[in-house]
Amino acid sequence: MRKRLHFVHGPTPIERFAPHGDFALQEIDLWIKRDDMTGGACAGNKIRKLELLFGHAQERDANHVITCGGLQSNHARATAILAARLGMRSTMLLRADDTKQDLPALGNVLLDRLVGAEIRLITPAEYAERDAYMASVASEITGLGGKPYVIPEGGSNGLGALGYVHAMREVKQQLDAGLGGGKPFDVVVHACGSGGTSAGIALGAHRFEVAERVRSVIVCDDANHFRKVVDRIVRQAMAHGDLEGGPAPIDFDENARGPRYGVMSDNQRTFLVRVARASGLVLDPVYTGKAFFGLDAAVTRGEIAKGARVLFVHTGGLPGMLAAGEAFAGDL
Ligand SMILES: *Cc1c(COP(=O)(O)O)cnc(C)c1O
Repeated sequence: MRKRLHFVHGPTPIERFAPHGDFALQEIDLWIKRDDMTGGACAGNKIRKLELLFGHAQERDANHVITCGGLQSNHARATAILAARLGMRSTMLLRADDTKQDLPALGNVLLDRLVGAEIRLITPAEYAERDAYMASVASEITGLGGKPYVIPEGGSNGLGALGYVHAMREVKQQLDAGLGGGKPFDVVVHACGSGGTSAGIALGAHRFEVAERVRSVIVCDDANHFRKVVDRIVRQAMAHGDLEGGPAPIDFDENARGPRYGVMSDNQRTFLVRVARASGLVLDPVYTGKAFFGLDAAVTRGEIAKGARVLFVHTGGLPGMLAAGEAFAGDL
């Protein structure tokens, strides 16, 4: 397999979800893979992908990474921090309704700025053409004598997805050591935003016999969109070898998207607060809070059987939570 740098403080813990209070989730055998603990300020799911993507950037002798995301992108923040650590420059194209606004000094953007990333705000219409925009920034940097490396949205290509194939190998080793209940899961559940985590988990879960199925709870677009996107990433990842068995089947759950990307429904916010108070598990408002809400709803609807062994991957996002104080003010 490909060159991989070492960023993740692993193996990350697998903990049982045992809340003090009543949750539909108590009807299943629920374990949480704490990938919110993959590192310090750069923690979350993205650094697993970035181990491979920065490895590739180094093979290419790049000295400047370019990537993109929403204004409070966890992926952009992790990329900015790791670039600073490796002595590389970074440019972030971040989507904003108002591109003339003063940059916030909160959450992910605070961290981007702290480590010296260059931030360029682009409109949602421009963001739809993000790959072309990133390519033009790359030529600009080349023109100035730099060596750019473009990382796609979310780090979600075949190479990045291999980070989650490795994560599933890590889970397998933990199960073999008797952790997490010591035997395979029925399903791995996680939040899905750009598809790379889904593709890697599905390939790794099958390859290492971690689970029968994967349930990707989407936070934007729709299930059809992600079927296509994840299928493409899976095929790219398989080209890197040793994954002939293909992916475990994936169910895309589109019932927990809430009002729109980055905005929770009242029920979702209340649930996130209730989980935090009953268990100390802190979720984020954009991804994991919706995915965990979606899991609870799927258990209530009977889509996941009572007693099923479930692994929920906590993919991080704490800085986004810390930027969402206004939305949560009424729930505190
Ligand atoms: C990016 C992100 C996800 C989604 O992962 P994708 O690979 O982009 O689908 C889930 N949770 C958090 C906290 C994230 O930052």
